[in-house]
Amino acid sequence: MRYADVVLPVPLSELFTYALPASLEHEVQAGCRVLVPFGARGTTTALVLRLHNQAPEGFTIKEVLSVIDTSPVILPQQLTFWRWISSYYLCTLGEVYKAALPGKMKKEKHEKAGTTRKRTQGTLAAADGQGGGLALAEAMAPSSTLDLSPAQLAAYQSILASWQSHPVCLLHGVTSSGKTEIYIRLIQDTIARGQQVLYLLPEIVLTSQLTDRLQRVFGTQLGVYHSKYSDRQREEVWQRQLSAEPFPLIVGVRSSIFLPFQRLGLVIIDEEHETSFKQQEPAPRYHARDAAIMLAKQMGACTLLGTATPSFESYYNARLGKYGLVALTERFGQVQLPQVEVVDVAEARRKKLMSGPFSARLLEAMRQALDAHQQIILFQNRRGYAPTIECPVCGWTPRCPHCDVALTLHKRSQRMTCHYCGFTTVIPALCPACESPALSQHGFGTERIEDEIATLFPQARVARMDLDTTRTRSAYEALIADFQTHRTDILVGTQMVTKGLDFEHVSLVGILSADTMLNQPDFRAYERAYQLMAQVAGRAGRRSERGLVILQTRNADLPIIHQVIHNDYEQLYAMQMEERRQFAYPPFVRMVMLYVKHRYVSVADALSRDAAQRLGGLFGTRVLGPDEPAIGRISSLYIRRVIVKLEPALPIGRVKQLLMQTRDELLSQPTYSSAQLYFDVDPF
Ligand SMILES: [Zn+2]
Ligand SMILES: [Zn+2]
Repeated sequence: MRYADVVLPVPLSELFTYALPASLEHEVQAGCRVLVPFGARGTTTALVLRLHNQAPEGFTIKEVLSVIDTSPVILPQQLTFWRWISSYYLCTLGEVYKAALPGKMKKEKHEKAGTTRKRTQGTLAAADGQGGGLALAEAMAPSSTLDLSPAQLAAYQSILASWQSHPVCLLHGVTSSGKTEIYIRLIQDTIARGQQVLYLLPEIVLTSQLTDRLQRVFGTQLGVYHSKYSDRQREEVWQRQLSAEPFPLIVGVRSSIFLPFQRLGLVIIDEEHETSFKQQEPAPRYHARDAAIMLAKQMGACTLLGTATPSFESYYNARLGKYGLVALTERFGQVQLPQVEVVDVAEARRKKLMSGPFSARLLEAMRQALDAHQQIILFQNRRGYAPTIECPVCGWTPRCPHCDVALTLHKRSQRMTCHYCGFTTVIPALCPACESPALSQHGFGTERIEDEIATLFPQARVARMDLDTTRTRSAYEALIADFQTHRTDILVGTQMVTKGLDFEHVSLVGILSADTMLNQPDFRAYERAYQLMAQVAGRAGRRSERGLVILQTRNADLPIIHQVIHNDYEQLYAMQMEERRQFAYPPFVRMVMLYVKHRYVSVADALSRDAAQRLGGLFGTRVLGPDEPAIGRISSLYIRRVIVKLEPALPIGRVKQLLMQTRDELLSQPTYSSAQLYFDVDPF
């Protein structure tokens, strides 16, 4: 009798063994999916890892019901990668399986893979009509090599030289230095060698702007893999990558690291500092940049990290000599870096020079830009209309019934909404506590700023880019296209407007308030604030004229403001790293966060105390907590956490074994069986 060890898309750590009926014995290989009975009466798709003849003992064995694939959908080297993710990020192989495969490939009913593959070519071309689609119909032959500026050429050559000794290279290039042209040249080289390229982008940046550009160069060699595409489209890319003619170039967001690559030669991680590379929920809580570096290593490929504002982790590795480092300090076409002017909001308010969220200086600069037919970007990192609503009589504030946060007022929809769980309710006509009729609104979200501009500059065409206006890919792309073709004058938005988009006619960028970013209770707050401000500032400036950035803050004296003004990343890095060394934060230690969640505060408290005590017994003073995070309850679950700080020299395999063991022991206690307990390795 033959048996199959399979992994199921469930968070269970063990593998399952099923018997193979004689009729299926010759139809199945490792890496194929099969349908198996699971649970009380149900069935599920499972992935075969191994076939063997050893009958398992001690339980009745069930049979595989049918075989879904005629050939493997997972390649052996992928499985090696899955195992690394599961062990490094402390999750099960089943959780990796669940995250890796497009939804449709995990469902119970399947067509035979062969039929899907036959369809592939046709549907790919059809998908193109949707804008920046999958494979790209109008491709002639790919266009010839483009010209690089002397600075770009020097960087390109330095990268090649660096790869001789370091498989990972960090390209630190100022905003608008033309990193994309360098990427294109490197991609062309790799494809010419018959190898594949993975071009990884953070979620939000994947716009038609970049895909159109790559399409013009690479035509049908380009495949796009993105969570906003349908399951069917993603499955088609997956199947194509298994075929004899896979896409040589894949552009995708974090989940594209799971695609089957047959001969990966180069991984490019653009905007490597972006936090959206980290998967937060559910497991595996992986960092796509770090995982992609491992993927490249396992497949013998080179990696290029690109950014204007390197993450401290990557910069640290480069300074240590673990990564190569190439700097590109010149903006393309001799465009100067913008001039940054600081407005002290506290002082402006005293002098009555503020009009709502705008300083007199910002309004003046906006007027000048509009008069000169130039465009403006305004950055405010809060969506909605007003972040705080309050009864002026009794002080009542609406709060989310499921989370420990205040509700944000959204004026267009006439609702108050929780930005954590999505709870939404109508705005009450009277204060529910004292029945006073008028509630007051405090603070400015992007929606309210859009309204204010309409009052102050009635002639200007304003658009808003935030989570509320970009629910669909087409809405997002339309906003970008309108701004790019100057159908809008002012673009107001959250951090979405800071991302690597290039617009030709932006002369002014306004950062309405740096303070919420600076006041985050997080050791990465300054690193992130700098990245956001430097990135959004980088949107200003045109060929003919130096751009202007007006930065409004109550913290004008902080060194970080000075560092933004002078584009002094080195000084920021030196100061912040000194603090991290002193207070033992990454990259000087490896952080593992243990999270506990439960419906009852008493259980969350007891379990987190128990966990901290047990871990303290194992790791001593490396364990901190338990404590309550800044938001202690989300979606009706109380959250507690325990921080474990580990020196890089500790044997990490053994440490992780102990962590998982502690978790299993705690969850096996009946009082805790309904609790969630998980680890977040290298948390963000
Ligand atoms: Zn009241
Ligand atoms: Zn909520």
